[in-house]
Amino acid sequence: MPKLVYVDNAATTNLSKSVINAMIPYYTENYGNPSSLYSIGRDAKKAIEFAREEIANCFNADVNEIFFTSGGSESDNWAIKGIAYEQAKKGKKHIITSKIEHHAVLHTTEFLENEGFEVTYLNVNEDGIINTDELENAIKPDTALVTIMYANNEIGTIQPIDEIGTICRKYNVIFHTDAVQAVGNIEIDVKKQNIDLLSVSAHKVHGPKGVGVLYVRRGIKILNLIHGGAQERGRRASTENVAGIVGASVAIKEACHNINEKVSKISRLRDYLIDEVLKIEKSRLNGSRTHRLPGNANFCFEGIEGESLLLLLDMQGVCASSGSACTSGSLDPSHVLLSIGLPHEIAHGSLRISLSDYNTKEEIDYILEILPGIINKLREMSPLWEKIVCENTK
Ligand SMILES: *Cc1c(COP(=O)(O)O)cnc(C)c1O
Repeated sequence: MPKLVYVDNAATTNLSKSVINAMIPYYTENYGNPSSLYSIGRDAKKAIEFAREEIANCFNADVNEIFFTSGGSESDNWAIKGIAYEQAKKGKKHIITSKIEHHAVLHTTEFLENEGFEVTYLNVNEDGIINTDELENAIKPDTALVTIMYANNEIGTIQPIDEIGTICRKYNVIFHTDAVQAVGNIEIDVKKQNIDLLSVSAHKVHGPKGVGVLYVRRGIKILNLIHGGAQERGRRASTENVAGIVGASVAIKEACHNINEKVSKISRLRDYLIDEVLKIEKSRLNGSRTHRLPGNANFCFEGIEGESLLLLLDMQGVCASSGSACTSGSLDPSHVLLSIGLPHEIAHGSLRISLSDYNTKEEIDYILEILPGIINKLREMSPLWEKIVCENTK
């Protein structure tokens, strides 16, 4: 048995060796404040500007369109609040998003609703994909912003971002996308895809936690979220997380390198996993089979509870999740699974397995070896399962 099988890469990832090595000098000899004038300060400044350039290149952005933040959540908050308050000055107070966004987006739009903004939450179909006609119909003269995630963190569904970008451009509405889960899995070109703002997080692509990126297209006016010093060209105060920024740039650059090769390797593993898991009775795959992140597999097993499944997997060395890390701890079923039309009792029995290019076929085989037994054991103890079996034999 492998010591630890980590298949929760949508929650966070291991740091890659090259990322750690790139970061260490900025914790040891190059600890200068990038705003200082002496040499170790200037070196830190140079490292940040080099990182900015590297990241800009990954998304076909310009170097001065890249801003560093404290993570994906801050990038989402800044993009949405920064645009909303700026556009409100012109009387535009309507925002369009979807029902399956990450909470960094949904809780921000809910906050803005309390501040007097109007928010339209687009439905998704049973695969978790928005309808672009519904989007187009929702746009009004006072629409300030469309914010739709690139790929979903729970069910891996990929949205039609090119089409959404085209629609937003046609109506001259600002378009933000939370691309945290898409980076490294899909090629992103902000110019070609008409993306005005894009959120990225380093720790989802083998980079450090607590570092994010917000791309803001040149000419887009956005209010500051963090006020203070003149860092990030006066747009985002606070002494830069130099080592984190350097690590983020190495991680993002590696993620965007050889995407096709990685995607075909990871999706082969994922498809093998999906085909085998679906042999378990009363199981289903959540999300689209085709418009799906290469590493994402999300299942429901009738008659069992996701949390107990996770505990038993953990006892056998497997780190997976049920829905997202942010909702675990609460007993509410995932808003994403409910939005794709699953009833509460089925949404409760979900399991998300998210792979990265560090995972191997041996690890998948190990999961496949233990999973059916765990599910049987839980079902034997489940009154819910008894009921399902009874209804089926009637
Ligand atoms: C993880 C995640 C975030 C939050 O990023 P942090 O860096 O953890 O703040 C936002 N959106 C999506 C889709 C994510 O998966």
